[in-house]
Amino acid sequence: MLEYQAAKDLLNNKTILVTGAGDGIGRAASIEFAKHGATVILLGKTVKKLENVYDEIINAGYPKPAIVPLDMSGATEQNYIDMADTIVEQFGHLDGLLHNASQLGALGPFEHIDLTSLEAILKVNVTAQVIMTKSLLPIMRKADHASIIFTSSGVGRKGRAYWGPYAFSKFATEGMMQVLADECDNTSVRVNSINPGATRTEMRAKAYPGEDPKTLKKAEQIMPTYLFLMGDDSIDTNGQALNAQ
Ligand code: NDP
Repeated sequence: MLEYQAAKDLLNNKTILVTGAGDGIGRAASIEFAKHGATVILLGKTVKKLENVYDEIINAGYPKPAIVPLDMSGATEQNYIDMADTIVEQFGHLDGLLHNASQLGALGPFEHIDLTSLEAILKVNVTAQVIMTKSLLPIMRKADHASIIFTSSGVGRKGRAYWGPYAFSKFATEGMMQVLADECDNTSVRVNSINPGATRTEMRAKAYPGEDPKTLKKAEQIMPTYLFLMGDDSIDTNGQALNAQ
């Protein structure tokens, strides 16, 4: 979907939360959403990275973002409920949620899957996203139109040898998307997933250490699909699994 052209003011007056906003695709999406007029809530683990994205957005003259430092591997349901309360106090409602943060974990044969690491990956990639979505849905329903985007992967749509827990978690992501989209059908909330495709980030470099990163698209280049799903041009799109490339 690289050809979609977003209007400059596509996201004016929208408040959008991005997880994993400090780096890679989440960083690029946060800046792109702000560039198109959104107030972005930057959620992530490493505060310094979030502050850098905050400064980039401010220096470019885009709407002032907010920072939420949160490690999704340890966060409780109460943390997400408190976050929803703070968002409603400050912004009244939430228009967009990009579930982008995830953990790759170790790749390797099925017999070598380590239970502790399996649980850690599922906690961040699945459980935390369920709890966060559950806590934020009431304040998303207060928006005229709200968009939830889950981030999938090629290995979340077709299993591949040695991709282990990461692949299982991405199948669960597609499942969450489909179940919630069906529940939200004909409501003001729409729910879809994006497979970013091979993108030049730290996670990709970890998964493919032998690859030349210059052969890959930069995160900034795959943003049209993210903009399309976040903006009102996609009001009638629900339950779809899209590819960014
Ligand atoms: P990166 O590893 O570059 O960035 C991931 C971001 O998620 C980081 O900002 C990281 O924060 C944050 N994060 C990780 N764990 C947690 C946690 N426990 N709590 C809060 N934040 C956390 O990944 P990409 O940008 O490459 O990937 C973004 C999404 O796209 C992922 O869902 C990934 O699975 C998916 N994807 C990526 C592809 C690619 O080619 N790059 C291909 C297919 C799918 P910090 O930096 O502080 O650790």
